[in-house]
Amino acid sequence: MDCIFCKIISKEIPPNKLEYEDDLCMAFHDINPRSKKHILIIPKKHIPTMKDVIADDEITLGRMMMVASNLAKKHEMNDYRLLISTGKTAGQEVFHVHLHLMSAPS
Ligand code: AMP
Ligand code: ZN
Repeated sequence: MDCIFCKIISKEIPPNKLEYEDDLCMAFHDINPRSKKHILIIPKKHIPTMKDVIADDEITLGRMMMVASNLAKKHEMNDYRLLISTGKTAGQEVFHVHLHLMSAPS
């Protein structure tokens, strides 16, 4: 499958500074950071957009939120934004769900 994030999950392409990995998700730094700290948390399952999630994905989505919260603490982010762009006109460029964790200016 021609999906850059699936290639990172399968280790075909190395992640940009791996932060976290478990059975359900993976986290690494965005290659084009839009804030001082900008981390992406992705599910290991290929889910193109939030429009495609099913009930079975609930635990994975919850895990991604927990990982984001833990990484924000680890990186001593005081305030931060969590964003999932959904669909082309909303700015989604990579069609494999990803949660942006972006530190706020301090
Ligand atoms: P979005 O616009 O929400 O689809 O965000 C896609 C994000 O993925 C952008 O912020 C890109 O900089 C980032 N990105 C694309 N390819 C990679 C990669 N190989 N490693 C890390 N981040 C990436
Ligand atoms: Zn994928």
